[in-house]
Amino acid sequence: MSFLLGLWSLYDDNGVHCFLETLLKNIRAITLDLDDTLWEIAPVIHRAEKMLWQWLGENYPRIPERWEAQDVVALRVSMFEEFPQKAHDFRFMRKKVLEQIALESGYSADLVEPAFGVFDDARNDVELYPEVAEELAWLAERFVVIAITNGNANLHAIGIANWFDDIITSVSVGVAKPARRIFDAAISKAGVSSEETLHVGDHAESDIQGARDAGMRTVWVNRNSAEWPGHLDAPDATVESISGVRELLQSASAPGRGSVR
Ligand SMILES: [Mg+2]
Repeated sequence: MSFLLGLWSLYDDNGVHCFLETLLKNIRAITLDLDDTLWEIAPVIHRAEKMLWQWLGENYPRIPERWEAQDVVALRVSMFEEFPQKAHDFRFMRKKVLEQIALESGYSADLVEPAFGVFDDARNDVELYPEVAEELAWLAERFVVIAITNGNANLHAIGIANWFDDIITSVSVGVAKPARRIFDAAISKAGVSSEETLHVGDHAESDIQGARDAGMRTVWVNRNSAEWPGHLDAPDATVESISGVRELLQSASAPGRGSVR
């Protein structure tokens, strides 16, 4: 069996099964985190930042003469301090940094959009974990599927938009996960109740705690056998990859989108 349960100490194998089946037997909609749930994001961002820096050097040479790539990280931190009301909007922060390094290097802010485009194209050049395409297709056929992300992934650019009914982002809602509002927005888009919605994500706090606070069922995707942080309530279930989600839903005979009112 590829899933574990936070309450394992209270149930034997059969008990776990029954408990999960009861919890998941009404699931009609799935909300999915993107970065580090469907693909690994750190190497993608690293490569995108490198490509941006190279592009800036080729087109705006005074920038790398004046700035080191590392300076940009410090600048971004200072932007979060200067614009706390935009802390949920990484796109805004990255553009503000580009604007500042442009102006301080004697260029106009016109470079911001094309430069951000270079980053953004590379940021959406992700490699899905091997099981993801098949599992998304399976879910999309049976459930309402909505992406919830604090990041800037573009489902169309990545080529997976056809498997999603919608996407809710921290930018569109104005707050980032784990704030309840972003989960509420997804539940309302799905047209189901919170208990009929299963959130699947890799982040203990942003995904699992946030979704739980919104009254949703939760599955933690734990690819690297990490320890669950003891100060947080356990997820309803833990899986090693999203393939485990299919097993959970099948054993619970979750009704899926066929019964969305
Ligand atoms: Mg994530």
